[in-house]
Amino acid sequence: MSAPADAGWPPLREELRGIEPYGAPQLPIDEVPVQLNVNENPYGPSQACIDDIAAAAAQAAATLNRYPDREFVALRQALAWYLSKDTPAGVLPEQVWAANGSNEVMLQLLQAFGGPGRTAVSFAPTYSMYPEYARDTNTRWVAGRRAEDFALDLDGARALVRAERPSVVLLPSPNNPTGTALPPEAVAALCEAAAHDDVNGIVVVDEAYGEFRREGVPSALDLLPSYRNLVVTRTMSKAFAGAGLRLGYLAAAPEICDAIRVVRLPYHLSAVTQAVAVAALGHAPELLGKVDELRRERDALVDWLRGAGYDVADSDANFVLFGRFADRHAVWQGLLERGVLIRETGPDGWLRVSVGTPEEMAAFRTALTDVNGERA
Ligand SMILES: *Cc1c(COP(=O)(O)O)cnc(C)c1O
Repeated sequence: MSAPADAGWPPLREELRGIEPYGAPQLPIDEVPVQLNVNENPYGPSQACIDDIAAAAAQAAATLNRYPDREFVALRQALAWYLSKDTPAGVLPEQVWAANGSNEVMLQLLQAFGGPGRTAVSFAPTYSMYPEYARDTNTRWVAGRRAEDFALDLDGARALVRAERPSVVLLPSPNNPTGTALPPEAVAALCEAAAHDDVNGIVVVDEAYGEFRREGVPSALDLLPSYRNLVVTRTMSKAFAGAGLRLGYLAAAPEICDAIRVVRLPYHLSAVTQAVAVAALGHAPELLGKVDELRRERDALVDWLRGAGYDVADSDANFVLFGRFADRHAVWQGLLERGVLIRETGPDGWLRVSVGTPEEMAAFRTALTDVNGERA
């Protein structure tokens, strides 16, 4: 027996009714061979890496009648070791927390530090999941604006943080979908602005694309010893070539990691996830081995698009935002019809393309020229 459609069935929360679930179109690779829409690393693992991961998964399989290590000690040690190579400050295991993707890490941060009567702040255009974490945790959501070139207007950002007194500030660096990295002065200034006597807001620098940053752009990890309210999140989904693994993590003061333990679900990281992530971290040099090549490919793509007459945002990530189109959907559709899937996201008139292999980028350039003609 079904109730009438207008009777509030199923009894979804009022503010969730009619909302489409988040997600880029996911199409079979044999139908759309060039997939440049979700910023994955296009290079898969070597046979040696696959063998190690399989052996680790087999070992975990033998223990599956038991719950996994709730505190994922071995994984925290491996992540601390990995992060310590990226900052002279070093990172200790008790400064590390992990979950099933950095999306889950950030949701847990909002569960612990947001909530009713509290505010989260970010600066648009930015990652479209942030307002969803706020909505799902009943946290008030406030979005400031970025400058015309997508950089953060530091005075305006500081003023907004002082006025809104958020308990969480979300700052992606590099930003998605624009590729814009934050200078360390901006992170430091916002950590100071967020630390009110009565609010003590945390500042989350989302470095999902941190490994792709250009030469000379530092990681916010360097600032951890200076700001106890700073949280730096990372993921194995992008540069690390592990999107299918679902493993995200953060580095922060041990008190912050401890506080998250209150809201995490028991045994949230499966034994298989923990074992596979540790095995993959053992192959870090190989899995990250294509990052330099992808950065060069990105810079070449920016040059090519500019040469062809497009507006292109500077990028420190493995994707590029370009425009502007009177009808971006038509361009997206035209590319799809030519077997190239990119992302219709960001400010109106712009499109985002991930950096793939040289062959994939050649296919993208050919398809775009075909769809849109020469613009220069
Ligand atoms: C892809 C992405 C993430 C990572 O998501 P995972 O859940 O770790 O796969 C986080 N932040 C931004 C801005 C992203 O684009």
